[in-house]
Order: sequence, then structure tokens, then C-alpha cells
Amino acid sequence: TRYLASRMSAVHPSPTIELALKLQHMKAEGHDIISLGQGELDFATPDHIAEAGIAAIRNGQTKYTASSGTPELKAAIALKFERENGLRFNPSQIIAGNGAKQLVFNALFATLDAGDEVIIPAPYWVSYPDMVSLAGGTPVIAPTTLAEGWKLTPEVLSAALSAKTKWVILNSPNNPTGALYSENDIAALCEVLSSHDTLIMADDIYELIVHEGTFATPAKVAPALAHRILTVNGVSKGYAMTGWRLGYAAGPEWLVRAMDILQSQSTSNASAISQAATVAALNEAPDFLPERNARLKARRDIVISAIADMPGLTAPTPPAGFYVFVDCSGLFGARTPDGHVLKTDMDVADFLLVQGQIGVVPGSAFGMPGHLRLAYALDDARLKEAMNRASDALSRLE
Ligand code: PLP
Repeated sequence: TRYLASRMSAVHPSPTIELALKLQHMKAEGHDIISLGQGELDFATPDHIAEAGIAAIRNGQTKYTASSGTPELKAAIALKFERENGLRFNPSQIIAGNGAKQLVFNALFATLDAGDEVIIPAPYWVSYPDMVSLAGGTPVIAPTTLAEGWKLTPEVLSAALSAKTKWVILNSPNNPTGALYSENDIAALCEVLSSHDTLIMADDIYELIVHEGTFATPAKVAPALAHRILTVNGVSKGYAMTGWRLGYAAGPEWLVRAMDILQSQSTSNASAISQAATVAALNEAPDFLPERNARLKARRDIVISAIADMPGLTAPTPPAGFYVFVDCSGLFGARTPDGHVLKTDMDVADFLLVQGQIGVVPGSAFGMPGHLRLAYALDDARLKEAMNRASDALSRLE
């Protein structure tokens, strides 16, 4: 309507959140839908962390805090960075917010002017391009390929860089492909970036969910660039705390200060209760993880072996994360029982929803048409059932 600001034309609803709403709606109508759409673990927040949240409520830690987070939380974040990444930050270089999402948004909003470019490797997390556009910048999509393990190469990065590049966003492990950049991969990219003065965002939110290989982070791999790297992380994924809304970032003081100013004039601090729970989470090494990751890996293997038996679908085994990124272009041209010809990943996702009662996200949402993202964060029985439904639905294609 004429009341909406023109900036709203630069932003679309998050496709993954849209799908979740659509599936909820179908479930409410009585359909037995299995969702492989959510970027969220089915595991519970570990008990000792939940208890710390409950204790915070009872102790009256229910007031405003400093907008960038309590001193205790910043100390716990600094400890985590030192223990797990070999990185040292002062409290003035650290900020906590309402999920990693808010920190990515505030970092872009605090730095982008009209015309500034942000290099985003595709496939990408759905929110990066819209956040860049909303902040007035221009997303520059740098494609990756399966042949390169869905990883940005130094050549493609070089070609995408320009005098207008203000940020390069790196996301490893990657959503949606599960690609994991090795130390060497990151070093090669940082080598290219050393002769440019762009900022670098390392979105490390999936750090703890690694099945094969070793996680590495740019600020550690390339200390010479650390003065222009913002490292973003949070407890949503590794600690199964999506609903607590607690993310954090660390980097140059001037940038963290600017992000804090935005936060102090918009949302103020992240929930004091979630901050207290996160102190409990980060003060200990995550010993509960190996068992959970083993369960995830077994689920990943269920999906990969099921897909190997489905004609028209192919998927590499992702080394990290909890998504499988499937090439569905082999189904294009096939005819559904109700007479539609499958032409796009959206058609295939719709077909799987209507004929298979399973929800998946089309690759187009991540800037990579012809693919589907399957999140396998649900229990083994349901996951197997979902794979059977997919296979049955596909067998009805002509
Ligand atoms: N970055 C990536 C790549 C993600 O996939 C997500 C969540 O889906 C986020 C950031 C945001 O996580 P949160 O705001 O829950 O910390």
C-alpha cells in the first residue's frame, strides 16, 4: 500500500520462515506433514543450560542489561573464543544480540552506503542478500559449484571484488550445502583479500556441527586481516538454543561500537535470561556434542543412502551442518499424476508437499535453482518415513 516505505521493496519474507508457516497451516488442517524445512535441531537445550536460565529468572536477573551484553556474558564469550578458536578479544570488541541474525544485520546496517557492494557466495543463507539490500547496499553473488565442493574459489572471489566492495561474507560450515572450508581454503581466500581493504564477515554459526574435517575461522587463519574481520557466532545451532535468541560477534572496536549504538536505539539488550543461560553454555566445553553429532551423522547417512536410490536426485555427502543439498534437475520434464510437468525446483518442492506430504526448501531461495535443501534434524523414524514418502511420490512420476 501507499503507506509502506520504499525500502520495503528491497526485502522479501524469509522463504524458510514462510515454508514453516505454510506447513503449520497444513498440519492445523489435519494433514500429516513431515517438515524437512526447519534450520533447527530437534534436540533439547542441554539441562544445565536450561537450569541456568530458570535460576536467572528466580534470582531476579530479569532487568535491562548493557545493550551489548553483561560483563559475565562477554567474559564467557571471550573464554569461548580463546578456548575453541585461539582468538583473544577485549570486552569492548564483543557484542551479544538477539541471535546471530541481529548481529549480521547491524554490522551491515552500520557500514553500508548506497552503492557499496557485498560479496555473497551462492548458495547462501536466505537472509544475506535481503539484509544487504535493506541497508542500501548491493549484493554481488559469487557462485560456487558442486565440483569445487560448493566452496568459493580465490579466482571467483578475485573476479567479484571491486573498488566498491565493502564486505565479503564467508559462511563455513555453510547453510545450505554443509560445505566446510579448510584452513588452506580460508588462507587462499585471505591471500586474495590481503590486497583489498574490504571488511570480512565470518559467519561461524554452524561451527560445532562438523562430521568430517576440521573447522577453521578467518581471524585465526589470517591474523594480519583480523582488524577488518567480524566473527559472528551464537548458541542457536550447536547448543540447540534457537528460541533463546542469543548470538554474539567480535571484531574491531569501532565496528562493535557502531553495532551497539544501533542496538541501543532499536532492541536494547538480548534477553537477560538468555544471556545468563549462555554464560552457563559457554563457560564449559560442549561435552554433550559428540553424542549428538553422532546421531546427526547417522541421520545424514539415512538421507544420503535413500537419495542414492531415487532416480532423478543426486546429493553429495555434506561434511558439516544438518542439511543435505540435493540436485533435483534430473526430474525436470517428468509429469506428475495430476498432469503437471516439473520444470523448476519450486515445482519439485510443491510436488513433494502435495504428493509426499513432506516439506523441503527450493534451492532458488538460496540462490541456487535446480536444488532442494533437506534439513535432517528430526528423529530417525520420521526421517525414514519422509524418505519413503519421497521415494513413493517419485515412483508416481511419468
Ligand atoms: N547464519 C546462518 C548461516 C544461519 O543459517 C542462521 C540461522 O538459520 C543464522 C545465521 C542465524 O542464527 P540465529 O539468529 O538463530 O543465531
